[in-house]
Amino acid sequence: MKAARIHRHGGSGELVYEDAPEPAIRADQVLVRVRACALNHLDLFVRAGIPGMQFAMPHILGSDIAGEVLETGALCSRVRVGWRVLLSPGLSCRQCEQCLSGNDNLCRRYTVFGYGMDGGNCEFLAAPEYSVIRIPDDLDFDEAAATPLCFLTAWHMLMNRARLLPGEDVLVLAASSGVGSAAIQIARMFQCRVIATAGGEEKLAKARELGADHAIDHYRQDISAEVRKITARRGVDVVVEHVGVATWPKSLESLAPAGRLVTCGATTGYDASVDLRYLFSKQWSVLGSFMGTMGELHQVLKFVFRKQLKPVMDHAYPLSEIRAAHERLERKEQFGKVVVRP
Ligand SMILES: [Zn+2]
Repeated sequence: MKAARIHRHGGSGELVYEDAPEPAIRADQVLVRVRACALNHLDLFVRAGIPGMQFAMPHILGSDIAGEVLETGALCSRVRVGWRVLLSPGLSCRQCEQCLSGNDNLCRRYTVFGYGMDGGNCEFLAAPEYSVIRIPDDLDFDEAAATPLCFLTAWHMLMNRARLLPGEDVLVLAASSGVGSAAIQIARMFQCRVIATAGGEEKLAKARELGADHAIDHYRQDISAEVRKITARRGVDVVVEHVGVATWPKSLESLAPAGRLVTCGATTGYDASVDLRYLFSKQWSVLGSFMGTMGELHQVLKFVFRKQLKPVMDHAYPLSEIRAAHERLERKEQFGKVVVRP
């Protein structure tokens, strides 16, 4: 089969489109013909190399996968050949206390396609039956691939970690990102007032189109000063962070008393600080979030399948042009999800 693989860590030039062995399925796995695979920042991190993490080489990237079921193993009883499906990006042991309590993203063996195992930047993939989720006929493969990781992450951040309530004020950093565009829509669905940040006029307009009540240019405006103006000096109840050190101080300054800042990433750097005097006197909560549970994936997919939430599509490339797809993300040119098609 054709696959895009890395043989060592480095820049986008390390991505090689080449022939690779077709995977054989185990009895509890299904063989999926990959039709679309969406990119995430995780792909860039794994490609560049993560300190302390060893990857078996050559390695196939790609966590967000949609396609058709070609074959099912002898122990599979639910999934049928021919189904159009997406795959839950998160995989776990299904046997430990956390998994059996429904917190599979806290499993010690939790991993993600394209991270702890080969991902979907290839034609055929062996996936455990439990990860397979059937999609409706009117959802195309590009949209199906663009959905799981960013909507699951945003849902877990807002619903589980930050305990979002209807009507609250929410600040979403970087509306153009997958998580940002998903968080805006989820918060709007719960009748929240959404303030989003984006870089440049074009992206600000798109943030408003997505449902943001207010949009702040994070390159040209002072985020927390604008938030204070919009909220009559109060600040917001919830901040959705994933940018990291570049926006962290302004994100904290934007919080109302008893506000919750929830973060799932640090794309601009991780070495941020918190002034403890503000943390205790204003009774803020600083919350970490990573992926989400499979139960939550099913919860958020209901809304995507009913078209109440919609993945924002940026651009689709053939898998052979994977380098250009990575470079588009690296240059921050995208608004929404970039997809490759094997
Ligand atoms: Zn487990």
